[in-house]
Amino acid sequence: MTVRLRAHHLLCMLTFVGEGYTSAFTDNYRRIAERLTAGEEIKLVSGPDDICVPLLGEEEPHCFKASIIERDAAALADVAALLGETIEPGAVFVPDASFLTKLRRNFASGEIRHACNGCEWGDLCSRIAGDKFAGVLIGHA
Ligand code: SF4
Repeated sequence: MTVRLRAHHLLCMLTFVGEGYTSAFTDNYRRIAERLTAGEEIKLVSGPDDICVPLLGEEEPHCFKASIIERDAAALADVAALLGETIEPGAVFVPDASFLTKLRRNFASGEIRHACNGCEWGDLCSRIAGDKFAGVLIGHA
């Protein structure tokens, strides 16, 4: 099995401490966090992913909005530049310590945070990064 993630969730997963939109959303996200922490691979997808699933039953899920798709494009460009390779949907990543540390280092410095512009969770994510990612649920088993 792989965890299907859209590009901007490669960033959001770095600061997940259990917060989210609804309890169904955070319950699902916690299960994904456990799978990633156990080393399950990530498969990059375009559009709504495994984290989005609990929101897709809403009347107008924000997951399909143009602004969110732009967020994916910004994240994809940043992560591709960081890794020095072209990345497309279907790409597979292993969420091991070296991958997560590299992303977190560059997230904390702001290098790969263009996708975060205008995000309602921005201050929380900045605080978590500033606190050396204390309490995050992915990659710290
Ligand atoms: S600020 Fe928003 S887009 Fe950026 S990592 Fe946090 S939740 Fe994701």
